[in-house]
Amino acid sequence: MDAVILSIGTELVSGQTLDTNAAWLAEQLSAVGCRVVRHVTVGDELEDITRAFREAMECAGTVMATGGLGPTADDLTRQALANALGRELVESAEALAQIEALFARWQRTMSDANRLQALMPEGCEIIPNPRGTAPGIHFQGAARSLDIFVLPGVPSEMKAMFAESVLPAVRARSGGAVTLVARLNSFGMSEANVGEALADLMARDRNPLVGTTASAGVIGVRILATSTNEADARAVLGADVAEVRRRLGEHVFGEGDETLQESVAKRLFETKKTVATAESCTGGLLAKRLTDVPGSSTYFLRGYVSYSNESKIELLGVAAELIQEYGAVSEEVARAMASGCRRASGADFALSVTGVAGPGGGTAEKPVGLVYVGLADGSGVAVRRLMVGSHLTREEIRDRTCKMALNMLRRKMMR
Ligand code: AMP
Ligand code: MG
Repeated sequence: MDAVILSIGTELVSGQTLDTNAAWLAEQLSAVGCRVVRHVTVGDELEDITRAFREAMECAGTVMATGGLGPTADDLTRQALANALGRELVESAEALAQIEALFARWQRTMSDANRLQALMPEGCEIIPNPRGTAPGIHFQGAARSLDIFVLPGVPSEMKAMFAESVLPAVRARSGGAVTLVARLNSFGMSEANVGEALADLMARDRNPLVGTTASAGVIGVRILATSTNEADARAVLGADVAEVRRRLGEHVFGEGDETLQESVAKRLFETKKTVATAESCTGGLLAKRLTDVPGSSTYFLRGYVSYSNESKIELLGVAAELIQEYGAVSEEVARAMASGCRRASGADFALSVTGVAGPGGGTAEKPVGLVYVGLADGSGVAVRRLMVGSHLTREEIRDRTCKMALNMLRRKMMR
């Protein structure tokens, strides 16, 4: 069961209004086993809308359109659908009665323009609109080969009408098919490496459908399992989730919306361990992330923003000679910051960060994006030298640095 989503409105193509309907509808249709194959957006032009309907009907059995059903001159969706179907626009007595009833309830007089909203292509059914004047339109082709649904663009009306009238019809058509979605989040592998590790699972004709997404250094793996029934879909999905976890191993830090800091917090809660931070180039962002999680006072003891050389010496006991000899951005100073932070705070783990966040201040030896992350625990101090990427902005470099530090702690706790 394939579907095309058609969004109609000049405000959408011109970029003034974000098309949130299409994303919402795609998610809803996917969940009931309908494969959305195309999103199309057109402005309020009769020819464009007509052509979009024709093309959509050619490429899928379900066409889900929104917008252009209002009472004004730029609302051309009814006429365009009639043209695409090669049918006349006729006044629907049922639609007119609903519009009249609505105005009676509001105790307002109905304008002639509203009467136009009762027009629909011959042979179509109305989709009741409990929240507004524009009824929706449903066209069903012979032998159920084609379903066209048209709803108003106003998101609240569209959603209510979809849930009440469209969803049951789509469900009936798909015979109880379901698509379940899982998302695994990984950190530390590039998207290309994840793609290589999952190449056979990502074959396009496979069920589940597996794909990757990259967002701010986090590589997500999306798994969509479709089946004729929920139990089967769940089993197929579960098998792939387990396989992806097995292949990506410790790089997977969570499922769904779980963040790196939440994953770290979970382990700290479980093991009843504590953490403290000593930050230079991230200026407290790491402490902020660690305390984003509710209940963080049980594991987070303190954070130092030791930005100046003096503060590294005074607060963390870093030897002045170390800074002189190796520079503030160095493995030696990161090590001393982590061990000093652990000593001063009494935490089980201490994370330290020192680096060049840019955009200025980089040298050939220590370019923008060079970062050292230290992690001290009872067994000693580990320091990692990382090139976060000089092409990134200051904000991005600080974000990735925090993620690398959190990930280092997370992986330490897995051992
Ligand atoms: P319409 O049904 O075309 O008269 O649209 C009414 C209003 O709904 C528009 O002015 C937009 O603010 C909003 N709208 C229409 N289409 C969309 C869409 N695809 N996504 C989000 N909002 C929309
Ligand atoms: Mg419009």
